[in-house]
Amino acid sequence: MRIDLVTLFPAIFDGYLTQSLLDKAIERQLVSIHRHDLRDWVAEVPHRKVDDRPFGGGPGMLIQVEPTVRCIRDVDQLADPARKILLTPQGQRLDQRMAENLATSERLMLLCGRYEGFDQRVLDIVQPEEISVGDFVLNGGEVAAMIIIDAVVRLLPGVLGDENSSLDDSFSRGNRLLEFPQYTRPRSFEGHDVPDVLLSGDHAAIAAWRSDMSRKRTLERRRDLIDDNENN
Ligand code: SAM
Repeated sequence: MRIDLVTLFPAIFDGYLTQSLLDKAIERQLVSIHRHDLRDWVAEVPHRKVDDRPFGGGPGMLIQVEPTVRCIRDVDQLADPARKILLTPQGQRLDQRMAENLATSERLMLLCGRYEGFDQRVLDIVQPEEISVGDFVLNGGEVAAMIIIDAVVRLLPGVLGDENSSLDDSFSRGNRLLEFPQYTRPRSFEGHDVPDVLLSGDHAAIAAWRSDMSRKRTLERRRDLIDDNENN
């Protein structure tokens, strides 16, 4: 997969892209991530100003249409056409199903807003998919883009050690419920013991226990997931 980031703050991604799973996935060429500084598409070199006041008044600044559209078109030309995603609190809310769907794409272009966001004509002309990471407002799309990258890259074949290890994760295509509780050594700590069944070596019994616990936990915490499963 190839991911292109369009941002006013490319350096925000420095630490994130050089750590842990992401770093390894990039090194193993399972994903390539390319950052593009929107200011490079601004004509007036001394100021490199991309924002301006909204027509009609009101607080804050908007990212201008002209450099943004030119940037998106130029970046798109760098490889096969990208699936364009604009990060906005007004978009469809990200969930695991969406992440799984995004993970099947060859190329994503993530458009990170700042200030009050983009001039509406960016959306009208480019017609990107609009994705929100939740019902709250961030300062910019960069953290939202990192959330998408994080959720998507771990689903790419070869990124996690075990191909099936994401199947049982909460919300995932294994059963769309919350994951069961898990334990590691020691067997007993301050009077809290690991459930006997997990030490039994009986794989069928362990699978049945995990399935029961997953359903129980989901019923207690996220009944809506069970209702969704029954309707899908
Ligand atoms: N004025 C915009 C509104 O009310 O819809 C919010 C602008 S926000 C301060 C600046 C940028 O942060 C947005 O353009 C978007 O790229 C990003 N952003 C903020 N909240 C987000 C969210 N929940 N999901 C995705 N992106 C978000």
